[in-house]
Amino acid sequence: MVERFQKILDNGLKIWFDPKPLGDCKIQLNFSSGSIDETIPSTAHLIEHIQGCTSTIYGNGSLAYSNSNAYTSLEALGYYFGCIVPEDFEDGLELIARVFDRPDLKIMERERAAVRHELLGKVNPFNALNESIFTQLFPNHAKIMKSISQELEGLPRITEEAIIEYWNKFYDPRNAVLYLGGELPENVEELVGNFASTPQRSPLESFEHSWPMEPDLSKRLEIIEKLNDKPVASINIHYQIPLFPHDTDIRDWLVYGALIGYLNKSHGPLYSKLRDSLELVYRLNIETHGSGRAGRLLFSCETGNSSSWPEIESAWQRTINDIANIGIPNAEYEMQKKNYRINLIHNSQSFDITGMESEFKNGITKQEITRSILGITSEDIRKKADEIRKKNYIISVVLPKNA
Ligand SMILES: [Zn+2]
Repeated sequence: MVERFQKILDNGLKIWFDPKPLGDCKIQLNFSSGSIDETIPSTAHLIEHIQGCTSTIYGNGSLAYSNSNAYTSLEALGYYFGCIVPEDFEDGLELIARVFDRPDLKIMERERAAVRHELLGKVNPFNALNESIFTQLFPNHAKIMKSISQELEGLPRITEEAIIEYWNKFYDPRNAVLYLGGELPENVEELVGNFASTPQRSPLESFEHSWPMEPDLSKRLEIIEKLNDKPVASINIHYQIPLFPHDTDIRDWLVYGALIGYLNKSHGPLYSKLRDSLELVYRLNIETHGSGRAGRLLFSCETGNSSSWPEIESAWQRTINDIANIGIPNAEYEMQKKNYRINLIHNSQSFDITGMESEFKNGITKQEITRSILGITSEDIRKKADEIRKKNYIISVVLPKNA
């Protein structure tokens, strides 16, 4: 079997080939631009709708049976056809190439209405709360990000010129990656030759973003709101963390992953306190988030006993303290390494865009990641918990409306 590889066309388009005997294929076109790059809020999103229709990702085209979608985030745009049968690969390639076409302004008003409808669905107190937490955690990123109300306010102001200007700047082959995975036809390298005629248009030399730095939270903050219809309380604890690859290296990032894996364990230290002894929480989750350089570690859970949230906060703190003081048992981390190996096996049997991104964008090979994982010790995890316990955080508690 051919290993995954990258090819860069003369126009700058990067193509990632990920051939695997999976039975089906996936075609994805990503751009390293997003809403951060627009001058009128919602422009990038509106173009995503227009190009999504043109490529039939949205609509009833011949690949309507597939798992296809498009998205716009702060710093990225993507279009994909997933779960397509191999005989449709060539069609999929032709359709996704239309994303580079000049936007069809005839459908602009129809899609403006669709975006508006989508945004209105996001106007609710939970979103407002999330925006307010984000602003307190990352005030400098909040200044350059758009809130839902700013998106709604910008939408009617988007002109045809603004659409063409954005498209012209950012829908450039130098700013894009085409991922091709799964059961690829033998002549796949010949087929992608069609993309060689996609012209460079952008006046820009570089598509890099410059992100602001954020001050550390100066104290613990508490936000309590009564919004839940159900008689449950949702508790979230948010920390600022450095984000890979901007602010930290792969090894440090993997140590975060190892600690999070331990905390999420269904019979790990958090569940044993919160579920088995206190009988307060039956589902919890720890994860990382990031956009730009705003990295976040988030602990979240729900409890049916809404007045118990201070106990939950203190159980979380005790858990982090315990790990910071005594580390985690070696056997625990050995188990995690096995878990990691299993993940590697699964990734080798699936569409691994993340793995290719780490290799071809960030320059970190599978072998390096494996070496780092195997090199992590329980002392590294102890130190990471120690770092976290010294940080301030925001705790947000959403109580039942009638609490
Ligand atoms: Zn949309």
